[in-house]
Amino acid sequence: MSDRYQALVRTPVGQLVAKNLGLPNPPPLVRYTPGQPLVDGTVLVGGVPGGRLVDVVPGLLGDLGVQASGEGDQRHRGLVFDATGITTAEHLVELQRFFSPVVRSLAGNGRVLVLGSPPELAEDGERVAQRALEGFTRSLGKEVGRGSTVQLVQVAPGAEQAITSTLAFFLSAKSAYVSGQVVRLGGNSLTDVPEPADWQRPLDGTVALVTGAARGIGESIARTLHRDGATVVGLDVPQVAGDLKALTDELGGQAINLDITGKDASQRIAARLRDEYGGVDVVVHNAGITRDRRLANMDTDRFASVLAVNLVAPQRITEHLLGADVLRPGGRVVGVASIAGIAGNTGQTNYATSKAGVIGLVQALAGPAGEHKVTVNAVAPGFIETQMTATVPLAVREAGRRMNSLRQGGLPVDVAETVAWFAHPGSSAVTGNVVRVCGQSLLGA
Ligand code: NAD
Repeated sequence: MSDRYQALVRTPVGQLVAKNLGLPNPPPLVRYTPGQPLVDGTVLVGGVPGGRLVDVVPGLLGDLGVQASGEGDQRHRGLVFDATGITTAEHLVELQRFFSPVVRSLAGNGRVLVLGSPPELAEDGERVAQRALEGFTRSLGKEVGRGSTVQLVQVAPGAEQAITSTLAFFLSAKSAYVSGQVVRLGGNSLTDVPEPADWQRPLDGTVALVTGAARGIGESIARTLHRDGATVVGLDVPQVAGDLKALTDELGGQAINLDITGKDASQRIAARLRDEYGGVDVVVHNAGITRDRRLANMDTDRFASVLAVNLVAPQRITEHLLGADVLRPGGRVVGVASIAGIAGNTGQTNYATSKAGVIGLVQALAGPAGEHKVTVNAVAPGFIETQMTATVPLAVREAGRRMNSLRQGGLPVDVAETVAWFAHPGSSAVTGNVVRVCGQSLLGA
């Protein structure tokens, strides 16, 4: 689905008209292409004395091949600030002291990371100060402009060495459409991180199941996990078997043609994965449907069918794969929620219920799955350009595209890159998170 307004505004005449009329001017977003350096430029690292990460981060960036910059440098691709040493409210002024002099030197498509501690693990004054970091990062996300993004990464004590895959994701072009997010690492038993043999193909030797893989976001997830080295098993309804086969043949994977709401779907999926691969490492519950109608006009079938695909099936399949030990230790479960599940949406009581339930699934399962050394997270896409959103009425579509800090819709690959970060073997400390891929949408903010 093309964004004609964005194309127009990038022409010289379009730029002039947009400027004079005060219309939104979506910045071109740079996305990752394999072979390109992870971070195209240098990163300035700072922090307050006593922080747990300021001395660790430069070494981890060095492992990723990322160069450090000095404070006097003209341009920084990234700014990383260790705020874990901020223990009182008065101390928060250190944020201003670090960022104000350097924020103008942030390159377009730049990256800002504030590293903090999970407030609930801190006490009293420190808890107050750490919670305050959220307001800072979300506001800076709205100020930086030019395609730049800002996140808060809360690192629990003990997880300091388990943040490399997260630094790689948030400092690179892979997170082009993710901004204003608060992510939590650690606080669980999963902080021993196996180093991938090859950072270009971190999923080598793993098997990934992607539901709803025949088109849209699912297809992009399948392609991205394959790029990262996984053997991909794509699943979709029998009606689209031809499209699915074309994709899985191209990726050298396998296709499963079934409806995930079928009575024996979990058993059939488990049997295929066990018989053909001895198990599975990554499960992405992407298949989803909408059946919009205002509640007064909604019949039970319409409500129940959306719940069945978007929530009941992912819950059943996950519980079955875990219970039958088909999901291997080190495994990853990724749900696909939606900002509709956070903000709510007219005509979508059924859809929003199902997607809020996916968030509940992450919260309910992250603990028990951790005992199997499996992480559970979800992405919550905002407006993504797909066939699903192409059917949305024009005015709503335009609002969806522009009402976010990046002034444009995302692409399926933006969701896929976020899934690939969750799936990364280095992301074992990342569990129980719901990360919005929405360009910092104003909805549900
Ligand atoms: P899409 O309609 O283009 O693709 C969904 C795929 O799921 C299709 O291939 C479909 O055949 C498959 N599917 C549907 N029901 C199934 C079933 N019962 N069993 C097996 N497969 C089934 O949708 P999309 O835009 O690519 O969305 C993918 C996911 O992202 C969905 O969960 C959707 O709710 C979510 N999402 C999308 C957006 C967006 O802006 N496009 C925003 C938020 C969330």
